[in-house]
Amino acid sequence: MSKKKDDKRIIFNSEKEMPLVAMSLGSMLYNKTGAWRNIKPVIDLSKCIKCGICWKFCPDTSIDIVDEWPQVNYDYCKGCGICAEECPEKCIVMVEEEK
Ligand code: SF4
Ligand code: SF4
Repeated sequence: MSKKKDDKRIIFNSEKEMPLVAMSLGSMLYNKTGAWRNIKPVIDLSKCIKCGICWKFCPDTSIDIVDEWPQVNYDYCKGCGICAEECPEKCIVMVEEEK
C-alpha cells in the first residue's frame, strides 16, 4: 500500500492574505459579462425554423427559447459566433457592436 502524501493545503483566513488572483465577486446573475463582446449575433426570425441548434451549441447558455423562438441574452453573450456558424438556415449574422 502506498504511503499517503502529506496534506499541504494552504489556508487563507481572508482575501487580504491571498495573492493577486482573478476571482468572481458573486453570482453570474450580478456579473453581467456581455460587455466583453465586440460583435453580436442578430437572428432573422423570418428565416428561423425553430430547430434550437443555436440554443444547444451556445457555450455560454446565452440563447433562450421564448415561445419556441430563439432569443439572444445580450447580458451574457460573448459574441463567439458559434450560433451563427451552426445555424442550418444561416439566419444568424454577427454584427459589430456600436460603441
Ligand atoms: S455568439 Fe456565442 S455566446 Fe453569443 S449567443 Fe452565439 S454562441 Fe452564444
Ligand atoms: S439555429 Fe437558426 S434556425 Fe435553428 S433555432 Fe437557431 S436561429 Fe433558428
